[in-house]
Amino acid sequence: MTIGTVTADATAPGPGSAQPSGAAGPLGPAAVALPPRAERAERAEEAADRLRTAAVEAVAVTWVDNAGITRVKAVPLGGLAHAAQWGVGTAPCFDVFLADDAITTSPIIGGPTGDLRLYPDLDRVVPLAAQPGWAWAPGDRYTQGGAPHPGCQRLFARRAQAAAAERGLSLKAGIEVEWVVALAGSPQEEPRYPTHGPAYGMHRLTDLSDYLRDVLRALREQGLEVLQIHPEYSPGQFEVSVAPEGPVGAADTSVLVRHTVRAVSAAHGLRVSFAPVVEAGAVGNGGHLHLSLWREGRNLGHGGPGPHGLTAEAEGFLAGVLDALPELLVLGCSSPAGYLRLVPSHWAGAYQCWGLENREAALRLVTGSTGERAAAANAEVKCFDASANPYLAVGGVIAAGLAGLDQRLALPPEFTGDPAAAEPGTVPRLPTGPAESLAAYERSAVLREALGEPLYQAVLAVRRAESEQYAAAGPEEVAAATRWRY
Ligand code: GLU
Ligand code: MG
Repeated sequence: MTIGTVTADATAPGPGSAQPSGAAGPLGPAAVALPPRAERAERAEEAADRLRTAAVEAVAVTWVDNAGITRVKAVPLGGLAHAAQWGVGTAPCFDVFLADDAITTSPIIGGPTGDLRLYPDLDRVVPLAAQPGWAWAPGDRYTQGGAPHPGCQRLFARRAQAAAAERGLSLKAGIEVEWVVALAGSPQEEPRYPTHGPAYGMHRLTDLSDYLRDVLRALREQGLEVLQIHPEYSPGQFEVSVAPEGPVGAADTSVLVRHTVRAVSAAHGLRVSFAPVVEAGAVGNGGHLHLSLWREGRNLGHGGPGPHGLTAEAEGFLAGVLDALPELLVLGCSSPAGYLRLVPSHWAGAYQCWGLENREAALRLVTGSTGERAAAANAEVKCFDASANPYLAVGGVIAAGLAGLDQRLALPPEFTGDPAAAEPGTVPRLPTGPAESLAAYERSAVLREALGEPLYQAVLAVRRAESEQYAAAGPEEVAAATRWRY
């Protein structure tokens, strides 16, 4: 497929205006205004001085597209100040890229013309420990006139975070990263693993001892606090979790963690896959989102009158999230391959229910141990995977949660045990394919309003196009096509 080719999308009315004119979505647009140019210039000079002493040559500025792929523009260190003042040019059509680099279009965003400016977030810029000479910063996208780009997923997450703050609420979030590691030289279609140790086995940790140490070292040198690293269930699979932080920060961190794991892997002659499934039928890679809701320094998931100590606000928030899970899959489970992972008895959370420490429930409540609950209580959205754009995932969950909180929703009864063993029909299955979650997304006024029309439509177009791409493909074909894209 050549650049500029438009993937057939029966429902899109043709290339839209490349320079979207729609206003940013309604969640706190003022929170995402660009700071004054002089201030940005000064801060960039300070950052460049710091990076120079770390022998940094260039800064990679990333954004994540609607297909969940991290895209990048890099500038030499000497150009950081200019990039901070004027942004780096990026084409708006990236908003309608698919995971295989085909390009679709959407009613508002798409087509070959127009330009956006990508601004590095200087608060997050950090030298990359596993890529000597490189630093990384997540980017926000604005128009040439300096207005927030309504298709920018990170600005959407920032607006959602600001909408919580407007209610006096803050969130702590963390995204678990699971990956499968294979020998770099193994055939694409038949990954060979560098360890054959059992699931969660010390055997695997011993086989890949130096590699895992180097992953830990690189993450620490980049200022990340690792909570755990361990082998996972599937062949060659591992997981790392890091300390919780604000939702936008957690989304940034999930990008940084994945690319750090990738860089360390390459240095060890290994290749990695964060794809939802590496082998059809096997347990896949999740991208579980943990989150807790706080008001004035108090964890609202603890000490309240609701189930397991939830306060009414936390219960309303979680009820809103639980209710919206079918449509949230459009944001948190981007690839059609995600539905091969999201099946019962894979700890992926294939059922729309909640339960204390229930690993088969899409929403797992975690209270923590006696004595640490005020700090530790949180909820885990298990059905998401790492093909998600993490900014869309956190922003969508916040929007759905705030809607539930505003409507004072209550949680349905808890489900304990394995939903797959329950009387058929008692526990709803989450969508089993993209068509079902897209239908829920199209009914969701909450997500539509929160995302704003340009972003809402761009996500819809990308999901439709990818779902059409794989409509006739069997599980092995889908797994093979997506295995090395994420
Ligand atoms: N790998 C599983 C998934 O696809 C999750 C295993 C776990 O509970 O950590 O989500
Ligand atoms: Mg895991």
